[in-house]
Amino acid sequence: MQSIKYIAKEWDYSFKSMNWWNREKVKNAKVMVVGCGALGNEVIKNLVFMNIAHIVIVDFDEIEYSNLSRSILFDQTNAKNAKRKVDAVKEKITHINDSVHIEAIYADIRFGVGLSLFNDVDVIISCVDNRLARLFINKYAFMFSTPWIDGAIENISGKVKVYQKGESCYECNLSETERQDIQAKLSCADVEAEVHLHGSIPTTSIAASIIGAIQVQEALKIIHGYQDKLMSTSLYYEGLHNLYLNYDENNKNMDCHCNCKDITVQTSGLSNQALLIDLFSEIDTTYEHSNPIILLRNPFVTKVQLVEVNKTVNVSLPKYRLKNHFEETVVLLDHTDKIDRQFAHRHYSLEQLGINDCDIIKYIGDDGRIKFLNLNPKS
Ligand SMILES: [Zn+2]
Repeated sequence: MQSIKYIAKEWDYSFKSMNWWNREKVKNAKVMVVGCGALGNEVIKNLVFMNIAHIVIVDFDEIEYSNLSRSILFDQTNAKNAKRKVDAVKEKITHINDSVHIEAIYADIRFGVGLSLFNDVDVIISCVDNRLARLFINKYAFMFSTPWIDGAIENISGKVKVYQKGESCYECNLSETERQDIQAKLSCADVEAEVHLHGSIPTTSIAASIIGAIQVQEALKIIHGYQDKLMSTSLYYEGLHNLYLNYDENNKNMDCHCNCKDITVQTSGLSNQALLIDLFSEIDTTYEHSNPIILLRNPFVTKVQLVEVNKTVNVSLPKYRLKNHFEETVVLLDHTDKIDRQFAHRHYSLEQLGINDCDIIKYIGDDGRIKFLNLNPKS
């Protein structure tokens, strides 16, 4: 009679003999991946293979046929249906390893994600293709002292860099040309200019595999607490000649926000479905600031000019939602990013004002100091 070899049905059965592996740490780990393109696919695939318990994925794009040549988690039916990338990833991952919990957020990281996520995760892996998103991740990761790992690919080459507060900062290491390019984009009043151009960067699944694998390897070191083994320089991989180059990009700019002290976050029982007047009342009763000024991350717009038809229109929308309402070019006429108790739309919900679920609200208290208030904290 043929003997049957018993193999335990444990996903990480073979990992247990690796002396650096710690099942408990991996089981409790939470990682956010920003961007579900070629690089994001590889990163998420590796995180799922390594059995990372909680993965938050953020992307605001739909699948096109051209994505299929380098995205292991998408298929032709997804492309035919123009399925959202985050939904396709979540569905596929559930089939591969159902012990991994995926939180899929269909949003632009700069506008549609509650900031407390930056505080809740152990590490952020950036798989984006533009500087504005990287700058945003850098800013809010450092606000909560969360490390983040940047990856970039082009053709058969790529780059990886680990950023940690006090050690290395993306913003501090921008070149003058890169700073000017960012400033030009940020100062542009035209809403259309805020929309990312979905340029298709020429690259391959091979570059994505190499760079995405190194990003996840560094993330595993952070999860395990191996700080001394983390990559301290930028790694540039040049595929044509098989070169691995290390650059020291740890410049520090003393004016950069990365030098700020860690912030203290107050807690609130409100969700973003609460009304603005409820928020004022909560700040007053719980934190004793009777005349706070709320500082909006996304300006609230009340009047715009439609350029093509030369018409002025009254609106009540966060700036980033204008593009869903107007197809034509829009110029902002009236908008604000500061709100006090006299604000005309004080009966609006926080969501209507552009504040996200689990967001962190910034306000100036009666003492003139800036405070941070966490909406509906999950932990
Ligand atoms: Zn900096």
